[in-house]
Amino acid sequence: MEIASVGVIGAGQMGNGIAQVCAVSGLAVTLVDVSEAALEKARATMAKNLDRQVAKGTIQAADKEAALGRITAGTDMAGLGGCDIVIEAATEREELKRKIFAGLCPELKPEAILASNTSSISITRLASATDRPGRFIGMHFFNPVPVMKLVEVIRGIATEEATVRAVEALAKRLGKTVASAEDYPGFIVNRILLPMINEAVTALQEGVGDVVSIDTAMKLGTNQPMGPLELADFIGLDTCLSIMRVLHEGLGDSKYRPSPLLVKYVDAGWLGRKTGKGFYDYSGETPKPAR
Ligand code: NAD
Repeated sequence: MEIASVGVIGAGQMGNGIAQVCAVSGLAVTLVDVSEAALEKARATMAKNLDRQVAKGTIQAADKEAALGRITAGTDMAGLGGCDIVIEAATEREELKRKIFAGLCPELKPEAILASNTSSISITRLASATDRPGRFIGMHFFNPVPVMKLVEVIRGIATEEATVRAVEALAKRLGKTVASAEDYPGFIVNRILLPMINEAVTALQEGVGDVVSIDTAMKLGTNQPMGPLELADFIGLDTCLSIMRVLHEGLGDSKYRPSPLLVKYVDAGWLGRKTGKGFYDYSGETPKPAR
């Protein structure tokens, strides 16, 4: 099945990026959010990002206008009825996503594929809340979507091979590289990345090194563009903690126990860049360790 039209639910950080890359690739996009303000912000963000691409010469000004012209945005779920695939990128709450699917499925064409961009909820469990587990799949993009090359494609226990093939072809059309994952907690990237971040926080807690030593050691010693604590601040410490909890509960192994120091930062409201303070304090010109 070839995909020509894409619906995106949720116009937040991820949803607007997904809508943008789909529209730039020539697909018709319907973007739906419950919040008019979120839709307004998404339109402005997409226009600004595309302006940057025009300035860099990666697309022409006419391509920008054409891409924006391919996006219809609104608050009515019924607008998704004609889409070949709908990618759900709403807030990370299982009950909310289940409610969205219950309202959405009766509107969809029978052959339409339903994908979720969830970072941590079981694809198999979400699929069971729909009328189409065979055509349900995980399509996990990375932030910022227009820049990050990877899409993790996650098959639930019931996902059909034709669904996997159609979604892999779509990801390729968007200029992304696919990594296939089975449906286990954290999939591939978060399963491996978050324990590394958690271990960095444990090392900080035990005084193995301070914030700067740990980040410098990992940046220069393992050739990563960002140290693990800097990266944790970028992701959001609340998000890091919630993914560690998913790994700990889902896999039942004590090696995934969230670091008590990570819990303490979250309790303090030091959530990283988004609150101005995490492992680093962002109030000055250059970030400085927060303590
Ligand atoms: P966000 O908070 O920026 O955006 C979520 C959007 O969903 C908001 O605009 C909100 O108004 C909308 N929404 C809430 N309820 C809705 C409903 N009933 N119908 C339609 N829209 C609704 O969140 P985000 O960071 O874009 O994350 C969205 C999804 O992507 C989550 O599942 C998250 O786990 C996943 N994800 C996030 C990242 C990341 O780095 N932020 C990376 C990969 C995947």
